[in-house]
Parts: sequence; structure tokens; C-alpha cells
Amino acid sequence: MADPVKRINDENLEKSLLHIRELNGSKALSRDLQDVIPGFKTQKGIYKPQNSQYALWIRQTSRGPYDDKDPDILPDGSWYYRYTPEARGGETDLSLNTNRALLNSMDDNVPLGVFIQRDLPGSQRTYEVMGLAYVEAFDGTHFIIHGEPIDVEAKPMKVKLISPFIPYETGELPVSETTKVIRERAFQAGIRRLYHEKCSLCELGYHFHGQPIGVEAAHLIPVSDRGTSKDLRNGILLCRNHHSLFDRYIWTLDEDYRVLVKDEPLFRRSAESNHVLKVEGLKLPNLPDNEYDLPAQEAIDFRLGRFNDPRL
Ligand SMILES: [Zn+2]
Repeated sequence: MADPVKRINDENLEKSLLHIRELNGSKALSRDLQDVIPGFKTQKGIYKPQNSQYALWIRQTSRGPYDDKDPDILPDGSWYYRYTPEARGGETDLSLNTNRALLNSMDDNVPLGVFIQRDLPGSQRTYEVMGLAYVEAFDGTHFIIHGEPIDVEAKPMKVKLISPFIPYETGELPVSETTKVIRERAFQAGIRRLYHEKCSLCELGYHFHGQPIGVEAAHLIPVSDRGTSKDLRNGILLCRNHHSLFDRYIWTLDEDYRVLVKDEPLFRRSAESNHVLKVEGLKLPNLPDNEYDLPAQEAIDFRLGRFNDPRL
């Protein structure tokens, strides 16, 4: 299937949308976004470029008058979000230009960018770029916004569906380098969001200028074993230390998400001052909020197989 963004008959809109997709998962100060995102300087809420019938982006400010909630993330990397339409005189008015632009985007399946304000204590106004999304419906009070899945060519389905876990990349058509980069970025961003930007094992999570530092999304079934990057249930967020131990199968999680550590005396002595032994036998302290986003059992089994392999 072709990328839906490339089917839009508007070169400027296409260019801006692709740019927003590239920024998926990044956080930036409002004033820096003003330099690179059209309309960000002057427009709040919904932005519709003057010569376009579609919206280019929506943004949610954290102290806005509306009760928008945090996105609900699905295993395919897509997410749901309810967005309040703009109102006139306290009443929702769908005939406003901005709301009409969202309805046009919905009717013609044209995606738009989503920005959510995420200020850290004492910081300046920062936005998280959520990437691209589709307006799926208007339920009478809110627009239902559905984020792109990791596999951007597979436009998200119109029902909230938990897809079956497919652990391995299948022999699909050759994937371009750009697509690989976009998927890897979306995988990283999705895992960071699911794990609240903190290591699943030790809960370390630094932020500097709004960006998480020192945490990485790890694949349970590695890419080198053709493990999927299109499903967040093949991932876990770890700090660099616990990621490198995980990569060597020195620790793993069991089917109840408890920590197992290799029974190797010299390693254990070297790890005495390290957090990994403190959580041995305990459930990982930082896991996704929704049960359907937890690591898949097949992926855990793969890790257990390697962990129990005496040659490794
Ligand atoms: Zn850690």
C-alpha cells in the first residue's frame, strides 16, 4: 500500500506533514517549533493553512479550557485521542473554519500533525510531537483522533482493535531506508511513552531540555533475529546499563514480568552494588498502564530460551 501522505494533491501540505512525521517522539520548546512548523507562532488549537481545505495540525495546551486526555497507546504504535472542537460563545460550532477543516481531513482521510504540551517543572513551554494522525470520527462532543501506526502505510483501522502479535518480520516487499528510519523512530517513541520514559527495571529516567536521556527501547526478539519493530509488545524501555546486560542475556523477565538474573558467581559479585540484584525475583516496577501493551508472551519465551541456554 502507498503512503497516504503521498496521495495528497498539495505539495506544500505533503511536505509539512512529512516533516511533522519525521519529528515524531521529539520534544521541543514552543519558540523553536515556531521556526519550523507553519502557523505555530500565531495559531492555537487547530491550524488550517490559508490555501488548504485541510488542517495541518492540532495542538493541546496543558492549561487550555478543554478536558482533553492523554493518548491511549495501542500495540501497533497507533494511539487514540479525543480532541475538543473549537467553540464560539461557549458552544461547539462545527461551522467554524477550523472545525470544518478537521471534518474535511476526516472525509478525505488526510492525516494531520498532533502536538501536546508537556511542561516539566520549572521549564519553558515544551511540546511533544505525536507525529501524524487521522480524524476518525466526531462523537458529538469530541473529534476522535487516531495516530498513525508504526507501519505508516497501513492506515489505522476504524475500530479499536488489539491486533494479534506477529513476532517476526515477514518476507514483505523490500523496505526503503526511509521507511526503516521512520519505523525505528516510531518504535522508540511508542516504547518511551508506554514506559513513562523510565527504565522498566530501575526506573531511571533523566530529562535535559525536555528530552529523555539514557533510556533506550530494547527489542525482546532482536532485529538481528528478525524480531518485529512494528509491534510495541516486542519492546521494553531500559537504561543503557540494563540494556547492555539484557542484550547479553544476563537478566531477563519471566512470564509474570519478574526479573531473573544469571546464576554466575563472578557476575553476581561484580553486580553487588548494582540495582539488578535488588529486584531479582520481583516484578518489573515500571510497566505499561494497559495490560494489552505488556511484552508479548512469545517474545518473553524467546528471551527465556536464550537466558537458559548454557552456551550464552
Ligand atoms: Zn535501568
